[in-house]
Amino acid sequence: MNITSLRGPRRIAVAAVAVTAAVLGGAGVGWAAATSTAQPAIKTITPRSEKDVTNIDVLRQQLRNYYGDPLGTGQFAATSNYAREASKVASEGVRYLSHHRAHGHVTKAIVLDVDDTTLATWNYEVFSNWAYNPATNADYVNGQKFPAVPGMVATVRTAEREGYAIFYLTGRPTSQEQATLGNLTADGVGVDAGFPKPTTLRGGEDGLFTKPDVSAYPAYLKKACAADPDGKCTTIHYKAATRAHIESLGYDIVANFGDQYSDLKGGYADQTFKLPNPNYYLP
Ligand SMILES: [Mg+2]
Repeated sequence: MNITSLRGPRRIAVAAVAVTAAVLGGAGVGWAAATSTAQPAIKTITPRSEKDVTNIDVLRQQLRNYYGDPLGTGQFAATSNYAREASKVASEGVRYLSHHRAHGHVTKAIVLDVDDTTLATWNYEVFSNWAYNPATNADYVNGQKFPAVPGMVATVRTAEREGYAIFYLTGRPTSQEQATLGNLTADGVGVDAGFPKPTTLRGGEDGLFTKPDVSAYPAYLKKACAADPDGKCTTIHYKAATRAHIESLGYDIVANFGDQYSDLKGGYADQTFKLPNPNYYLP
């Protein structure tokens, strides 16, 4: 298994940033010419007091309550605040799509992220106690263990009926593509969430975009991510460049659905829809 390719950005605690120290006044000033420092990937506040944050064990219980799973069984409730909030976004999305009229000769399309946008990973968060581990996560992915995010199957099915092309865009690695497809649609293994099959693009590409190893990047990713560390796409660059690629083939991405801001930044969508996910943050 290729550890480095697994939903990586989520778990990178720090991003190395090279900093060149200014050399002041020529020789003899006591700084090295260059040094490097590490910066956290997540920019946030520094609490002045413990009272400014929620104790992490208490927070975990709040999340269990939010998912309607106070005892932490790993199954969220259909009546939970999570399900209500996700369903609300799903119905806002479908209402927007239904009112949208296609412009010109492009084909209208939607783009959907997978984890916690179409498939809910609550069971894995509970199992892992919110500590992502690529090996155990792969068990859940390859076992196709994730149920649908509430409301989203109906939304995507309606979109398909209304003539939208359906594209899925995930940071999961290419090695997990078949399991992802099986979990999303129906293959008789694990959960069959019942989403429509991805649309095959003009030119024959399949419409479930997983993240390739750098060595296998298509030209549009190589170009878009050339300045990223080791040429490896950040989530935002990977997703935005893929949406740009889709639109370059004659599609108009009317709506982009994601649970992370990094799913939604970078343009190439007329409207974005943010699904709830208080469990992790992927810069
Ligand atoms: Mg996601």
